[in-house]
Amino acid sequence: MALVIIGGGIIGLSIAYYHALARPDRQIIVIDSESELLKSASGFSGGYLVRDWFSPPVLPLAELSFKLHKQLADTHGGRQKWGYCESTAYSMVVEVDQAEGSGSGGARKVVRGEDWLLHGTSRAEAAKAYVPSVAVSDTLKSDDTSSTNDVVSSNHLPKWAKAPDGTRFERISSESGCAQVEPRELCQWLEEQCRDIDVEFYLNTQPVGLVKNDRGRVHAIRVESHKSGGNQRRYDIPCKDIIISAGCWTPRVFKTLLQQEMSPGIRPLPGYSRVVRSREFGSPIFEAVDGGRNVEMAHATFCPPTPEWSYSPECMARYTKGGRPEIYVAGLNDETILLPERAGHARDRMERSKLEDLKRTAEDLVRGNRNEDGVEHELELVREGLCFRPVSESGLPIISKVDGIEFKGNGHLYVASGHGPWGISLSLGTGFVVSKLLEGTKHKALTKEMELIKRPVALRARL
Ligand SMILES: Cc1cc2nc3c(=O)[nH]c(=O)nc-3n(C[C@H](O)[C@H](O)[C@H](O)COP(=O)(O)OP(=O)(O)OC[C@H]3O[C@@H](n4cnc5c(N)ncnc54)[C@H](O)[C@@H]3O)c2cc1C
Repeated sequence: MALVIIGGGIIGLSIAYYHALARPDRQIIVIDSESELLKSASGFSGGYLVRDWFSPPVLPLAELSFKLHKQLADTHGGRQKWGYCESTAYSMVVEVDQAEGSGSGGARKVVRGEDWLLHGTSRAEAAKAYVPSVAVSDTLKSDDTSSTNDVVSSNHLPKWAKAPDGTRFERISSESGCAQVEPRELCQWLEEQCRDIDVEFYLNTQPVGLVKNDRGRVHAIRVESHKSGGNQRRYDIPCKDIIISAGCWTPRVFKTLLQQEMSPGIRPLPGYSRVVRSREFGSPIFEAVDGGRNVEMAHATFCPPTPEWSYSPECMARYTKGGRPEIYVAGLNDETILLPERAGHARDRMERSKLEDLKRTAEDLVRGNRNEDGVEHELELVREGLCFRPVSESGLPIISKVDGIEFKGNGHLYVASGHGPWGISLSLGTGFVVSKLLEGTKHKALTKEMELIKRPVALRARL
């Protein structure tokens, strides 16, 4: 009997991919409310992968996922197909005067780009904590362009990176602890693989309820498909298992199916992004020696708020299909933007002034194209976007069976969502452990902290 996955972002795709490999005989259907995939966070994210920037309950999943990303890339040409590459992360460090009247006697406060990582999942929190002042230290400024090669300056910083006066950079990634992908291309590759192994995709389709037999057991999901011209069609898909992996929309789907709130809940954290190209980042491959190994390396910078910007920008140099380089700039979040009904409607909520802010920040942090006389020109714009991170109330991903619902044939309802700012990093691990769950095995990377809070399910026979 079929498995139905609700939501075809990177989490739904990873689950479909690993389960289709494990159970080639099984019918797997991904339903998505959009007319095409990747209008959501998975299509607009940075694609930075980290192995060990997580709290203890998530660490085993993060390590598994990081390993699977490398394995997948090594086996299937991830470098060429979705820009997989190891990466080094730098934190921008800014020393600021303590606020006047704070009684600090002129003491300096150090604000670091990775502070937000230690404060849960929201980069906005670091921005709120910022005390504006003057930056002082400039020992490792990035405009030292005396070169060791085409990509990196003699201070080991990437040549594409710029920083305001009074800032310095420190490496924060452990050896082989970070990597980079182009997430849209990784998702497209996963979708293609899924289609090749007969996973079915029902687009423009969303669930409207569970269908139960006269013994109160779920045996199908009722869905509504929207056709062009405004036509709708309702029908039932017989199934044994259902997974809700609809990112920020997961609590809404949960409520539609069960008529109750999900706990922990998931809130959307909207973020703008801008992808640019710069001639200063022209070489797709940088050979580096890291921990005694020769590796190909990309770079990312994580910055705290400064007088130039009031948020925590992040810049990631990455390669797209065939080695075309680009730099992803994000960090400008706006929690006042409400989650739209559908992922594709996010574009209508973009504010021009916010896009302009991020454009200015990109120009402050990324060295633009220079002509022969060394004059800097505008960066080439590849894409700009707004999308929503699914941040759970617990700050941890939710990967859990929903207790209290009986399915015909011993099936289950599951939730796999709430990955917050690290859904690309944790995607493959999530797909793998959920596939194991579907086969009846609980992988050790699944910790009890990721479970839903158990409540009796007040499921009524609505249909
Ligand atoms: C600006 C920004 C930068 C980021 N950078 C990084 C990064 O560098 N590294 C990293 O690891 N993570 C990053 N993330 C986080 C990452 O993008 C997300 O955690 C991840 O994409 C979430 O994937 P998902 O599949 O859960 O959700 P989504 O990608 O949101 O997908 C959900 C899917 O569900 C569908 N859906 C919604 N409602 C319904 C419904 N009723 N019925 C059917 N389908 C439905 C949607 O159409 C969509 O296709 C970033 C996020 C943002 C916003």
